[in-house]
Amino acid sequence: MFELTAPVSGPEPVANLTDPQGRRLEYLRLAVTDRCNLRCRYCMPAEGVASVGHDAVLRFEEMIRLAGILCGHGINRIRITGGEPLVRKGVVGLIENLAALPEQPEVLLTTNGLLLAPHLPALAQAGVRRINLSLDSLDPANWERITRRGGHAKVLQAIDDVLAAGLGLKLNVVVLPGVNDHELVDFAALTRERKMTVRFIEAMGFDGSGQPVRTLGGDEIVGRLASAYELLAVPRHAGAVADTFRISGHVGQVGVIRGHSRTFCGDCSRLRVDTQGRLRTCLYGVPAVDLRAMVRAGASDDDLLAAIRGAVGRRHPDGHAAAAVRLDSMANIGG
Ligand code: SAM
Ligand code: SF4
Repeated sequence: MFELTAPVSGPEPVANLTDPQGRRLEYLRLAVTDRCNLRCRYCMPAEGVASVGHDAVLRFEEMIRLAGILCGHGINRIRITGGEPLVRKGVVGLIENLAALPEQPEVLLTTNGLLLAPHLPALAQAGVRRINLSLDSLDPANWERITRRGGHAKVLQAIDDVLAAGLGLKLNVVVLPGVNDHELVDFAALTRERKMTVRFIEAMGFDGSGQPVRTLGGDEIVGRLASAYELLAVPRHAGAVADTFRISGHVGQVGVIRGHSRTFCGDCSRLRVDTQGRLRTCLYGVPAVDLRAMVRAGASDDDLLAAIRGAVGRRHPDGHAAAAVRLDSMANIGG
């Protein structure tokens, strides 16, 4: 006589995405459009990037499906980027859907700020708690030279709007030697009374021309700040790309992102899905898998997950090893 017992079973343990170096992939950067209302010189040519066409861009429902698969396997943060994400109609609805995934990922936004004011309440309502705002000059004329467009006052205003809405704020400043590097100390001064982080980014060669870029190294940036302020290093948390400092007497912080030097790769937790739905396992590498083609050819979730795992399994150890000939614009990859 056998006693019947229920088989010991439960959900299969899901293995999260981990690359051959043991780095866990926890952060997705999702580029929702390659279109933009600015033409920043370090990001794209004056005429903009060659538009990839409406059908080539990933649809929102395709993004939500891919994000759902990724969040089911360890992604816990999704940054909406572009191009300028707020020029794509319906982006707030996308954010709502992403924030409502069962894993409840944190959803963040990077924007140039021009269209932010009217969207701010809805973004906060949709679940966005932190915003990265890009601003490369405090001087309107200089900003217009860099962006080849107008609207500086709106971006300046966006700083205080974001803080007044109670959202976290990081200000991204791409440092361009001879163009805005004389403004480093003025940017840092913004943190005296504003609880925000100003992050200085080494310029990288992603302006769509394939030409080498002139950049100012992170050490030089820190040196210049240290000549004006007492900097106190903040311990780096896992996956962070910035070296962050408190400034004595300031409520905010400053940071340096060594994107050109690529010193943070050992800790990189990022995956990217570009505007055309290509999975990128390194900013500097070629796209690893065409997820859009797979989705539109009827791939199952298991097929997509297998392709994603395969790409993660081939991930290069760092951005130097991954470096391909770069003709891309950051507006397509999403930064
Ligand atoms: N349009 C939005 C914005 O500017 O915030 C989001 C997209 S933009 C591509 C994302 C970030 O990448 C911005 O902070 C931008 O300054 C940065 N970026 C663009 N091109 C870059 C480059 N060549 N080197 C370094 N950072 C770059
Ligand atoms: Fe547009 Fe952002 Fe690129 Fe500037 S950096 S051109 S705002 S996508």
